[in-house]
Amino acid sequence: MTSVASVFGRWRAWSPALRVETLALFAGLFFTLSSNRLFWRSAFAGRDFTGAGDWLFAAGLLVTLATLHFLILAALCNRWTVKPLLALLVVATAFASYYMTTYTVFLDPSMLRNVLRTDVKEAGELFGLGMLPHLLLYAVVPLLLLSRIRIVRDGWRPAVLRRLASLVLGVLLLAGALLTIFQDMAPLMRNNKEVRYLITPANYLYSLARVLGSDASAATRERQKIGLDATLDPSWQARKKPALFVVVVGETARAANWGLSGYARQTTPLLAEREVINFSQVTSCGTNTEVSLPCMFSVYGRKKYDEDKIRGSESLLNVLDRAGLRVLWRDNQSGCKGVCTGVETHKLDNAKVPGLCDGERCFDEVLTHDLDQVLADRQGNLVLVLHQLGNHGPSYYKRYPDAFRRYTPVCETPDLAKCEREAVVNAYDNAILYTDYVLAKTIDLLKAKSDTYDTALLYVSDHGESLGEGGLYLHGVPYSIAPKVQVEVPMALWVSPGYAQSFALDTACLAKRATQPTTHDNLFHSLLGMLDVRTSIYDAGLDIAATCRGQVGAAK
Ligand SMILES: [Zn+2]
Repeated sequence: MTSVASVFGRWRAWSPALRVETLALFAGLFFTLSSNRLFWRSAFAGRDFTGAGDWLFAAGLLVTLATLHFLILAALCNRWTVKPLLALLVVATAFASYYMTTYTVFLDPSMLRNVLRTDVKEAGELFGLGMLPHLLLYAVVPLLLLSRIRIVRDGWRPAVLRRLASLVLGVLLLAGALLTIFQDMAPLMRNNKEVRYLITPANYLYSLARVLGSDASAATRERQKIGLDATLDPSWQARKKPALFVVVVGETARAANWGLSGYARQTTPLLAEREVINFSQVTSCGTNTEVSLPCMFSVYGRKKYDEDKIRGSESLLNVLDRAGLRVLWRDNQSGCKGVCTGVETHKLDNAKVPGLCDGERCFDEVLTHDLDQVLADRQGNLVLVLHQLGNHGPSYYKRYPDAFRRYTPVCETPDLAKCEREAVVNAYDNAILYTDYVLAKTIDLLKAKSDTYDTALLYVSDHGESLGEGGLYLHGVPYSIAPKVQVEVPMALWVSPGYAQSFALDTACLAKRATQPTTHDNLFHSLLGMLDVRTSIYDAGLDIAATCRGQVGAAK
């Protein structure tokens, strides 16, 4: 007992006094050494450390990173803020480095936006008990040490002078270190610029500043209106039935595991039994929801990708609404990312439908379980957008009811790397099976409505997913270096005979078009085209159905 008491007593008595600059230097070194495993791995790839050059490069890089973080801290902290700020950074960095190494994530601005917009449910699913040892070592221990440190107080004049001198010294040191590593770093930065988003915590501090800056400027600007001349084509007046077009926005479904696109497993058996036109070569606009969702409904798209422009202007849904079609967005996820601003929205992720919702999440059937009621409330033409939870990871096993647990064994933890790869893929494929069921059931509902509506359905996923290939999990790798599985997505179109006739759509022609490359950029113009909406911003070159329309389309 006495020894425990004496250790505790010594700990209580241990209280080193440090200046802000010294503490910032220690913290810079700590972050550099403890939180940058992925960065070091990329930077040292291909080096065997047999020559002095490799060691010089390593030393130069170490000084660069440590000085960079020292400068950030020395610029932000004073003697009152240094401890709370460091405590915050230590905790955030421990979470960030765990998340980065577990799933190989680059914390660039779009990824950070994803993190900031995530809801508690999504965040909760990302972190399992497996992260506790990491948090203990990289957050709790440093916090305990930090709590014992006393900050030396100087008069303001020597404090300011010392800070200025240390900042100047830091800049000089950084410049010197950069010069020594420049030759070695240049090819790395040229071939893999995104590697800078692995430098932690500078990556998320930089991304945070970028996101807050762009959100602040967007908040002061009004959304740019587009398609002000949008109207319904005169052919609409001749239609006997109202149109019901369902757009299903999938989540995290990748083309590689899509039965209809040739996956070894038939993960889409129900769609295969229906007259569905499957687009087998579709690329997404982004590798995460925050990029893809606004982009796929935007007139700008990936070709002219400009995030501020896309977020700062209206979406396709506003144009359809302006033309006179009713638009309804139904959401079973974390929202529409600005796409549905100005149109009616149903949030269903917190619904309480027995058998479909467990109080936390709902299965995707919730999106259509009350379709009759929805149609009774909104008569006339309707464009219904259904935003799925789909294959949202890492807890794929929570995305489907037990009846769809066809492929086993199933990975039942968010720590995907702890499962056999096969079990991860099984859980993922079961979730695809469920999406197949939800889509087929929706098509059947639409078929049942074909006496009163001309109906059609278009499904497309927002981005793909890595399932352990090359050690990568989840998605969100910067677009320029993203693996194919994160950008190749399934897309399928179903058109009722009534719709095809009324809108003069040649489905055989569409089936042929479906074998050609397609991207999210086609969505905006294809929906305008297939819904016979006229506007000067419509680009027939991007409309997948432009050459597959008969007389009605030809009159455009
Ligand atoms: Zn997504």
